[in-house]
Amino acid sequence: MTLETGPQQASEKSLEAMRQFSETYAQRTGTYFCADLSITAVVIEGLAKHKEELGSPLCPCRHYEDKEAEVKSAFWNCPCVPMRERKECHCMLFLTPDNDFAGDKQEISIDEIRGTTNQYA
Ligand code: SF4
Repeated sequence: MTLETGPQQASEKSLEAMRQFSETYAQRTGTYFCADLSITAVVIEGLAKHKEELGSPLCPCRHYEDKEAEVKSAFWNCPCVPMRERKECHCMLFLTPDNDFAGDKQEISIDEIRGTTNQYA
């Protein structure tokens, strides 16, 4: 079954791709999702939407004058350079265990994501 998606939501295929990326990357880097999983949900949906629109998962937590140029520069394509170099994710998608906002999860389901983003769709 394919669900209707709102203008801020990605297709289920893109969402699933970014969901899997987020889980795998958190496990690989020893980082955790936010204790408030609605933050995680909104960020993953934003990444998926950008991947669909732009071909790359441009960071969804920033404002860009020119998204296509940003994608080409690759600095803010997830995982961005600050994350890769210093484990700094200002979106709070990947949090080191010492971060006050870090939860204990490295998994999130499609239902959990859409349970949040359907409210904003
Ligand atoms: S801050 Fe970096 S690692 Fe975090 S969601 Fe944005 S691009 Fe990804």
